[in-house]
Amino acid sequence: MIGAFEGIDGAHSQLALEAYFRARAGAEGATTLGTPTFRAAAVAVSASRADVGIVPIDNAIAGTVRDGYDLLLEFDLVPIAEIVWRMDHRLLGVPGSTIDEIREVLAHPLVIAECGKFLSSLPNTRTIPCEDTGVAAREVSRAGNSALAAIAPPSAGTRYGLVELAARVADHPENFTRFIVFRSQASSHPAFAVDESDGPRKTSLVLVTSNAPGSLARCLSIIASAGISVTKLESKPTLGRPQQAEFYLDIDGDLLDRDHAQTLAELRSAALDLRIIGSYRSSAHVAAGISAPPLPSLGDMMARTIPVTRPSKALSSSNTPRAARDSRPHGTRVRIGSVEVGDGTFAVIAGPCSVESREQVLETAAAVRDAGAVMLRGGAFKPRTNPYAFQGLGWEGVSFLFEAGLATGMPTVSEVMSIDQVERMAAKIDVLQIGARNMQNFDLLKAVGRTGKPVLLKRGLSATIEELIAAAEYILAEGNPNVMLCERGIRTFETATRNTLDLSAIPVLREKTHLPVIVDPSHGVGVRRWIAPMCRAAKAAGAHGIILEVHPNPPEALSDKEQALTFDDFRGIVRELERVPIFDGVAAISEAPLRA
Ligand code: PEP
Ligand code: MN
Repeated sequence: MIGAFEGIDGAHSQLALEAYFRARAGAEGATTLGTPTFRAAAVAVSASRADVGIVPIDNAIAGTVRDGYDLLLEFDLVPIAEIVWRMDHRLLGVPGSTIDEIREVLAHPLVIAECGKFLSSLPNTRTIPCEDTGVAAREVSRAGNSALAAIAPPSAGTRYGLVELAARVADHPENFTRFIVFRSQASSHPAFAVDESDGPRKTSLVLVTSNAPGSLARCLSIIASAGISVTKLESKPTLGRPQQAEFYLDIDGDLLDRDHAQTLAELRSAALDLRIIGSYRSSAHVAAGISAPPLPSLGDMMARTIPVTRPSKALSSSNTPRAARDSRPHGTRVRIGSVEVGDGTFAVIAGPCSVESREQVLETAAAVRDAGAVMLRGGAFKPRTNPYAFQGLGWEGVSFLFEAGLATGMPTVSEVMSIDQVERMAAKIDVLQIGARNMQNFDLLKAVGRTGKPVLLKRGLSATIEELIAAAEYILAEGNPNVMLCERGIRTFETATRNTLDLSAIPVLREKTHLPVIVDPSHGVGVRRWIAPMCRAAKAAGAHGIILEVHPNPPEALSDKEQALTFDDFRGIVRELERVPIFDGVAAISEAPLRA
């Protein structure tokens, strides 16, 4: 079984098609055939040289891809499924090149349209349209010239031996292209037969109305009276007739179904021209099945967090755990540049949940520093529950955070999600954060342990205090004493708050360990207006610091906007905290025998 796409190995359409094959029962293991143009892919299917083909029909930034629609109509092809594909555009160059050296960027014309802002920010650089993403990457690799770069997905970089110079270069981080997988009318391959039980369907059509007032409204009201929702409506001038518009529509359901015969007939008579592309499985079904990694099941999660039989006991059988209070009667002070975190001090760490742009992080850094923060946080690699949510700017975000740290004189904190990020992150960032979702990623803990860098270890979503301490032990056991523990809320049956901020962990951790305890009220409560009281409580209860999410414009934040503090909120909190004394007594009352 063969699927045709435009381009050579590494093209986005090939990746989308391969993902479709993996998900489609009976199509696993099908091969792909690169063709020079979208038209050639349509011809290959129409002439039965391929079983199916793929074309893009629109992009979230650049809009309708007219070629895609036109080819489906011209060759009378049958759409089978839509695939909503995240376009991961990176700037890739030859090893050793730097972004400042780049003078020419090769990319597909659609990709150039999607990355306009980034491309115009590169000084003295020309863009060169290329027939496809894979070709762009291959040509840069063949030329071996450090003045050339391509915009392509990371897999094309791996394939052609290129390195990443910038990540997420599209104008908007949520950049999706909608592809249609199609077959010919004649094709009878069972794997691509229309299966009515396949899930929700959609119909795409091109509608031409007269210029008479109300003619588009009449067509739309026919659709509305049938109880059908319109999911897309875009107009393009008719080629050769600048005064005439064509409307590209997608509607929910199968308009070719017998149930809709009446609607279809009415629509035909109301329109000047109606061209039906066809009806197909909608992405709600397909994309979730293919481009999203499976979410861990509750069973998996339980397996990860079921208490290990008394970990500290197992550890202490040969020697005292390094995290244990007994091993160091005086609290550890972790030094990060000029900042010290530990007994007798209270550190305020602040910054955006995610680094979203250079301007956003520079502006936030200056504001939080002026208000009294001593360290700057910002996520560049974001562990998001939803695979389609903003995933962070990656290395570009790390550079912006680094720059903001330098500009404001604050040390920086950022999350590392995988072992292969550790070394490069450690070169630029002062504190490596281990996120809640990675608290028991033991190999990652060992890797950050080996760097010797300060680590902010966040408590897992459903981890016990004992498990948090055991996770810290992994880092300490590598000879890295610079561990800060972070209480960020745990999952309970309570739903009023995002998590349940376990403030009782503060005295427990202070009693059982000598490590500094940081509290994260932002993730702990997840609701802006409940953060301030938890900050006061954390300081009063003996935390050694807090970490807070702050954004220049919370409603616009790309992650965790409900809990993002404004600059004013943050200033208010810091001011209030000045009135709460640093707790410097013993963590708990001694357990003297109680009188009967
Ligand atoms: C964060 O600090 O940005 C974060 C993702 O937090 P957590 O890992 O605690 O959810
Ligand atoms: Mn966050």
